[in-house]
Formats: sequence, C-alpha cells, structure tokens
Amino acid sequence: MVSLISSNFNNLRPDSKLTRMSQRRKFIKQSLMGSALFIPGVSSIAEATAPSLFKGEKPLILSTWNHGLPANAAAVEKLKSGGSIIDAVETGVKDTELDLSNLSVGLQGLPDREGITTLDASIMSGDGSCGAVAFVRQVKHPISLARVVMEKTPHVMIVGEGAKQLAIAEGFPIEKEELSPGAKKAYLKWKETSQYKPVINIENHDTIGMIGMDAKGNLAGSCTTSGLSYKMHGRVGDSPIIGAGLFVDNEVGAATATGLGESIIRICGSFLIVELMRQGRTPQEACEEAVRRLIAKNSKDIKDIQAGFLAMNKDGEVGAYAVHPGFNFAQATLQNNVMIDSGSHFKKG
Ligand code: ASP
Repeated sequence: MVSLISSNFNNLRPDSKLTRMSQRRKFIKQSLMGSALFIPGVSSIAEATAPSLFKGEKPLILSTWNHGLPANAAAVEKLKSGGSIIDAVETGVKDTELDLSNLSVGLQGLPDREGITTLDASIMSGDGSCGAVAFVRQVKHPISLARVVMEKTPHVMIVGEGAKQLAIAEGFPIEKEELSPGAKKAYLKWKETSQYKPVINIENHDTIGMIGMDAKGNLAGSCTTSGLSYKMHGRVGDSPIIGAGLFVDNEVGAATATGLGESIIRICGSFLIVELMRQGRTPQEACEEAVRRLIAKNSKDIKDIQAGFLAMNKDGEVGAYAVHPGFNFAQATLQNNVMIDSGSHFKKG
C-alpha cells in the first residue's frame, strides 16, 4: 500500500487537469450567467466584487462556487414557502447533489482511486445541533442523511457501511453503484497514468458549503461533497467534520470552507473563523486570518493548495477569502442572487 502511494506521488503532471477544470469552471459560469433569468427565486443576477453587497439584509444565504446560484435559489424558495433555515440549507445543497454537470458533489462526483464515489456531508443549526456522514456510498442525498443523524440519532457522525445501514433503515433509496458518464470518462483518463498527490490544483475543489440566516436571525449551514478526486479509499475531508468544513453558532455567525480538506482540518478552519468573529473580528477579517493561519501551517506545499472560506455574522455582514485567486461565492436575499469573486492571499500572475 505504502509503496503504491509513494510511487504515484512521484508521478505528477498537474498541467492538463488544471486546464480542463479551468475550462469547465468558465463554461459553468457562462452558462449560469446566460440562464440567470430562468433560475426560480432569482430576480436579478450580476457580478460583483465586494462581499458586503446586501449587508444586514435578512434572510441571507451564501454558498460556495457557481453552483451556489441555483442552490441559493432553491434555499430561498424553501424559505418563501415557509421552510425553516435548516430546511433551506438542506434543500439548497440537495440541488447541487443532483447536478449531473458537477463532478465533485453527489454520486456523479469523481471517484476515489479505486473507482468508487464516496460522499461526505454535514449540517448544523445555530443552536449547536449537528449531524454528519462520511465515506458514504450509493446515497443520493448525503446531506439529508446527515440531517437524520442530527435529528434522529444520539450521534454527530456516522460513516461508511453504518451510514448506508442508517439510510436503508430510514427509507432512503440505495442507488446502483456505477460512475456517471462524465466521472467514468475522467476516471479512465486518470487511470492511464494514475497520477496522485494529495495536494491538487486551484480548480479541483467544488464542494458546496452553504450558510444562511432567516428573518429572525437564526443561522444554519450545510456542506456536501464527493471530496478530493482520486483520493485514497476511505479518505475523509473537512466537509463532514464539524468545525472544519462547517460551523454555526447563533450567538456569533457561521462559516464554511472549500478546498483541500487536509489543510482546512489542520486549522479547524470554520470553527476558527466563528471564534475570531466572537472575539470581535468582522467576517472578512476572520476569513483572512484563517487563510493566513492555513498558509502558515501548510507552507511547504502552499503553491498547490487552494482553500477558501465563507462567513457571515449575525448582523448579516459577509466575508470570504481564499489562498489563491479563483474562489467565488453566491449571495442571495429574497430579491437577489449574485456571484461575488473572493479576494485571495496570493494575487493573480
Ligand atoms: N473540501 C473538500 C475535501 O477536501 C474538497 C472540495 O472543497 O472540493 O474533501
């Protein structure tokens, strides 16, 4: 096992995937902008650069990456139809879990190095209730299973076969285990060289993390992913780890993360941001400090590591920051849903 890993570590060629993922990101961005008027619950879409666009407006929903736009729209619709904030953050990311064009969330996500897609998800409410599942197979909506862990079990996290058993017991459909056409094609291509390195490039992370606040100021968050593509079988990232990929506290605010999970777990990224906000930092200052901390603790490989943080405080102020350029997020109120580019520690060029 060890020799297999190290031989693959030595077999790196990061160029082509970066290009492919950049192109895909650009395509999704163009498609979303082009189809903006058809997204339910969205009355206007624009590109902006400052994270404070709707400062103080409630309800407020934030989601990582371009798939955040339709996810936000679904979350806002849920709120409009009387759903709670926890319903909204679950419903919002379920949209992404079903998005066949997304290769890093849901069962259509890229598999691990054995060719098996495994999913991680977490959900948290501002009162401290939380649930998570990790290393789950054949379940279309890991976020809903995480909610079951939160609401129907005395536990916080259930993984692997146990999570599948819980899904069966709760009546979740168990899907046939086969790769989506897109994932299969990418996996077969990857297998030609089996290049593997646990730090990947800037564009290889597309987890959805969503944080939201209802009109009364109650907070909740959700995070769901198929994790790092071609990861070791059994690898779990930050997304299902409460405090790493997601943390929510009604007294302070909420934060979520995307990017190389190992680097985020090392600094308890989302918990760190909420605690910095508790000490008086703005969400923006807290995200920037978390990125500085992450860089300090992962400095050796930092040129290959992307991670981005997204946060809001209970006053509806917003912050976002990433290690490298390229991270963006969607911000929605009842009337608007816009993409915003995050700032980054390292600048373009
Ligand atoms: N954070 C996720 C993980 O490491 C990956 C991502 O954000 O795309 O599993």
